[in-house]
Amino acid sequence: MKLKIAVIPGDGIGPDIISEGLKVLGEVAMKFGHRLDFSFYLAGGSALDALNIPLPESTILGCKDADAVLLGAVGGPKWDHLSGHLRPEQALLGLRSALGLFCNLRPAILHPELSSACPLKEELIEGGLDIMVVRELTGGIYFGKRGISEDGLSAYDTMSYSVSEVERIAIKAFEIAMKRGKKVLSVDKANILESSRLWRKTVETVAKNYPEVTLSHMYVDNAAMQLVRNPRQFDVIVTTNMFGDILSDEASMITGSIGMLPSASLKEDNFGMYEPIHGSAPDIAGLDKANPIATILSCAMMLRHSFHLEEEAASVEKAVTTVLEKGYRTGDIYSKGMKSVGTKEMGSLIAQEIVNTNKK
Ligand code: NAD
Repeated sequence: MKLKIAVIPGDGIGPDIISEGLKVLGEVAMKFGHRLDFSFYLAGGSALDALNIPLPESTILGCKDADAVLLGAVGGPKWDHLSGHLRPEQALLGLRSALGLFCNLRPAILHPELSSACPLKEELIEGGLDIMVVRELTGGIYFGKRGISEDGLSAYDTMSYSVSEVERIAIKAFEIAMKRGKKVLSVDKANILESSRLWRKTVETVAKNYPEVTLSHMYVDNAAMQLVRNPRQFDVIVTTNMFGDILSDEASMITGSIGMLPSASLKEDNFGMYEPIHGSAPDIAGLDKANPIATILSCAMMLRHSFHLEEEAASVEKAVTTVLEKGYRTGDIYSKGMKSVGTKEMGSLIAQEIVNTNKK
């Protein structure tokens, strides 16, 4: 199979971690007989330096022409003085909207080997955690009508959802649940908000097409509490843009390691943009210190969600687990007694594990 991928290394540690993601994809392609077609594009600070805009039209066109996008991270102190549409981060918002990416997947996975990084009590996370937050990305209060009064003494934002917006994100959540623990929790505030009542009713209608999946509902305030009280109860959480923004950050923090967590932003079809959840970490850029695992796991998500290559995706995830089990750690996840490695060595160890493991 040909895997046509638009690659945006971006700024700071972006190029460091993307190299390791590509290394791992190279091993996967070799082992499973796929052909890789990478095209490289600028976005963020690197695009500002070269072309004076954070998101060049050529990048948007190149991404649209590919089957999937792999992004490192953008931004850094060099461009902090810029404001408004010139900020490097505008490239992220611009890409999401230009590419129609309405569904954000943020897995919060705590590997049992890294449980000491988790701020929760040991008995709450025994055996690790594996939660998938499915967040609606292009609707709700962040995109609703807003305004401020002339005297500046009052302001408003509007939360609005249509049935079709809820349907498409609910379908994604149920499809993902079918491949996991067959449980969906829909998070809303249906005791107060009209838009939440429409959300809940629509999710229930979609659920009828997935009789094998158990659907439950929770108010957002309770969900925020339950995530730290008993996180193992969760499998797939589907929620609105704002609730998902807050809950996915909370879920990722309970895993304790920003360098480990991948993400995907998807369209209705197979197209998606894949990126680590962390930023460009300018403090460690180019020093061979960045943890490439979040990016490597983003590549696994790409194999699964854009190319439907489940065995290939699982082989990458298994390779990451094996390398962690063998005790290799980058600085951000290092603890006493472990083997300290840099970005490149971590990438090579994971790539080598893919070579070592037998194909099914
Ligand atoms: P950050 O995530 O870049 O860094 C926070 C801390 O985590 C730093 O100490 C950093 O060294 C560490 N860290 C991050 N990723 C790591 C990794 N893979 N391995 C080891 N350590 C890692 O967040 P920040 O410092 O708030 O932001 C830095 C820049 O990144 C800013 O310009 C910000 O706007 C931008 N940013 C970009 C994105 C994105 O591109 N998606 C997301 C968040 C922040």
